[in-house]
Amino acid sequence: MSNNELPEKVAADLILLNGQVLTMDAEATLAEAVVIKDNLLSYVGTNHGAKQTIGLKTHIIDLHGQVVLPGFIDTHNHLAISAVDSVAVDCSPEKVQSINEILQEIAVIAHGKPETAWLRGVNYDDARLIEKRHPTREDIDHVVPDHPVLLVHRGYHIAVINSAGMQILGITEETPPPTGGAYGRDSQTGKLNGILYENAWFDLWGKSNSPLNIDNEAFIKGVQKVCTQYIQTGITSVNDAWVGSSSFRGFQEALNRGLLPIRVNLHIINTHLDQLEEVGLLRGFGNSQLKIMAVKILLDGSVSGLTAALYKPYIGTNDTGILLMEKEKLAKLIERIHRLGFQVSVHANGDKAIDMVLDIFERVLQTFPRLDHRHRIEHCSLLSPERIQRIKALNLIPIIFAAYPYYHGDKIYPAFGLERVKWMMACRSLIDAGVTIAGHSDYPASPYNPLIAIHSLVNRRTERGSPFSPNQAITVYEALRMYTIDAAYASFDEQFKGSIEPGKFADLVILQENPLTVAKDKIKNIQVLMTIGNGKIIYQKDEKR
Ligand SMILES: [Zn+2]
Repeated sequence: MSNNELPEKVAADLILLNGQVLTMDAEATLAEAVVIKDNLLSYVGTNHGAKQTIGLKTHIIDLHGQVVLPGFIDTHNHLAISAVDSVAVDCSPEKVQSINEILQEIAVIAHGKPETAWLRGVNYDDARLIEKRHPTREDIDHVVPDHPVLLVHRGYHIAVINSAGMQILGITEETPPPTGGAYGRDSQTGKLNGILYENAWFDLWGKSNSPLNIDNEAFIKGVQKVCTQYIQTGITSVNDAWVGSSSFRGFQEALNRGLLPIRVNLHIINTHLDQLEEVGLLRGFGNSQLKIMAVKILLDGSVSGLTAALYKPYIGTNDTGILLMEKEKLAKLIERIHRLGFQVSVHANGDKAIDMVLDIFERVLQTFPRLDHRHRIEHCSLLSPERIQRIKALNLIPIIFAAYPYYHGDKIYPAFGLERVKWMMACRSLIDAGVTIAGHSDYPASPYNPLIAIHSLVNRRTERGSPFSPNQAITVYEALRMYTIDAAYASFDEQFKGSIEPGKFADLVILQENPLTVAKDKIKNIQVLMTIGNGKIIYQKDEKR
């Protein structure tokens, strides 16, 4: 039946037979078999065709009807930040339920540490703590008075420090908050409560006394740890949407040592634009595993932290969120990034922030037209019919918070209100208008598992089961596109990945069930059985039956 005489040079390395191969190609072709040679797909089609490539050393896997998809692409998450956070106390809702539990964990790591050493907890979620609020300086001082402590909210736009931390950073009652940032104050006493919003917190990054400084070896270990988690959910590519010099160096070293199992496109922080220009770097510099893609701008706050910049206040408050940058500065930055040939990746969540971005792109693209710019609006959370038309006319790519309707919906709904929620993560309206969109987790801001994201976009129900703008629900196939071929397009990668076609990289995920036919409310429970990256099996679920 097979041709065992095939010389090794042309024989396949790995063959997958008897599968349901959802190729995600332009014709939505369904295939039975996939052949891998070196790191590429060399054949996609029938079992019979695939068997022609069997040689003496070919590894053959019988899928027994399991589903093959292109490896998932998370178009925006924070691998570097997660690597830095991997050495901190994990305060995510899966680990702790209350502020007291967080502080007990911090107290444990305080033992034996010098009193100048920062203690760090990450990923707490105010909405999921028993107290339903952020921890404060007073809470922390009570349990850990001597060491500086930093607790970071999972949305990453808010953090809390204690009195010892404020002292090290030189923050006093009189310190004015930086532009685009705020210091929280106790509503009764008016004193600083230790909560740092937006730039008040971002300004700590990169400082010599910053709580975020970790050494290179720890960073590389962290990258490995996080990638190991990613590949268990079928992720084979990400865009890291916030890369500075130390993480850039760390990523390169991880790659050189063979410790980067997934592909990473880098969004360099805009404060490095001078250096990028000085050394003459262009978009695409690097290789298929690690390359420079975009330059990142942060314009407003977050949806999960309720700091996105809005025209009308959050329900029941006078608060309209935070803009981190003036329009003129933003305009100069976008124009410069565009003219240098990079992809612009601008974070804009609220309606007010998105309108600013659209005004600027209209001006820049009219003055300096470029057909295939693929500039991206990261999150692009609160839209309207008019905004969608402008996005379409400018050919911008909205990068949508895919897991949010499910994972953060119960918090977002009461804060934004029904009228706005109808236009949040507005996938249906965007696709109907002919806009290409891609999905992302923004991890650690929401779970990285793409199947939770696809579940969320299709079902449009919150974790507690309430409908969340069901008018914006999309089909399973459309949601899959947002994590495969359209995600590849959002990074100029559609020639190399995002679909299962001969000549593309052999990045694949094998699922136990078919998301197109399984009950829609079960999509998030589908098991990932195997992940193949660059032609190699990089994850295999151990089969204990
Ligand atoms: Zn982000």
